[in-house]
Amino acid sequence: MQELLWILLLPVAAASGWWAAKRSMARACEETDRLTTPAYFRGLNYLLNEEPDKAIDVFVQLLEVDSETVETHLALGSLFRRRGEVERAIRIHQNLIARPALAQEQRAQALLELGMDYMRAGLYDRAENLFLELKEMKLHVRKALENLLIVYQQEKDWQSCLKTAEELASLIDDSLSLERSHFYCELAEEALRKRQKDAADKLLKKAASVDIHSVRPLHMQAHMAMEQGDCKSAIHLMKQAVKKDAYYLPEVLPDLMECYRRLSDLPALNNYLQEFLGSGADVAVALSITEIISETKGESDARAFLSKEMHLHPTLKGLLHLIDLNASLPDIQAEQMLLSMKIHVERLLAERPAYQCRKCGFVANTLHWQCPSCRSWGSIRRKSEPEE
Ligand SMILES: [Zn+2]
Repeated sequence: MQELLWILLLPVAAASGWWAAKRSMARACEETDRLTTPAYFRGLNYLLNEEPDKAIDVFVQLLEVDSETVETHLALGSLFRRRGEVERAIRIHQNLIARPALAQEQRAQALLELGMDYMRAGLYDRAENLFLELKEMKLHVRKALENLLIVYQQEKDWQSCLKTAEELASLIDDSLSLERSHFYCELAEEALRKRQKDAADKLLKKAASVDIHSVRPLHMQAHMAMEQGDCKSAIHLMKQAVKKDAYYLPEVLPDLMECYRRLSDLPALNNYLQEFLGSGADVAVALSITEIISETKGESDARAFLSKEMHLHPTLKGLLHLIDLNASLPDIQAEQMLLSMKIHVERLLAERPAYQCRKCGFVANTLHWQCPSCRSWGSIRRKSEPEE
């Protein structure tokens, strides 16, 4: 409320002489007349009595929109939006735009504000139209494009996202290659849902070329290769992804297992994974090796490997798996003890979110390509378990 009062008192201050030195006397007198009417004080009274709606009605009627009061209206409107009172913000900005006397630059500013009000209210269609109008007017183009990009992502209109990102990239010091690569991936996902494999393939190649660091198109191409039964190509693509970003290894591990299993070549995967063992490695690596040993050499060897590994780099997930392996032993007492331990470990694990955004710290249980919190693309990755 303090902020609101301040904004509304500014014109009074200005008009009643505090700033009068900068204005012509005639103009100041005219302003004073208008702003010291009984209606103005009625408005202030409403405001002081915590009745902002009535106050706004009075002020909006009172403040004839001209070049002198537009700033006040804009400040009021953006204040309401920031406070989450979007309907009031919309009313103020609509009222501004309805005035035919408005200068073009001021009209553009009001359109931008109204567009942001609509976005805040979830009225994305309306917001989109306003930002497009601004683009057409060639005013506030950068802001309009930035907001359009948010709108299109919200609507999952990836084609428009791509077009907008390209336009925006030409205006700012950022190629937006990360975002554009993900937009191509999203389009590829759509194509795959429609069983349009050739189109998906082209889009993924585009995604990979736009952002050479991106692992997502490689993993998607690997999926497509697997579906066509081409496990060798799939393996090659997934290894390329891991080369680009070693943190991504746990995400491709299940698919790698499947490919090597289909090729009856699990020992080769074991060799590949050995390089990644060690401190800081994701426990998924040790667990995959355990699974491979269990399948190729038997459970006793697998148990021995995991015991040794957990001795060196203990993790909750690894311990849980070790309990599982030991629970299959015949000793009933050991089994009961292990099972009771397992419950605690499971509870501890369930409480720990596995993924986190590197940009804003948002935590999640599954991998989101776009952070739901800060909207960054590719910023969420698996948290490595701290050593206990
Ligand atoms: Zn984030």
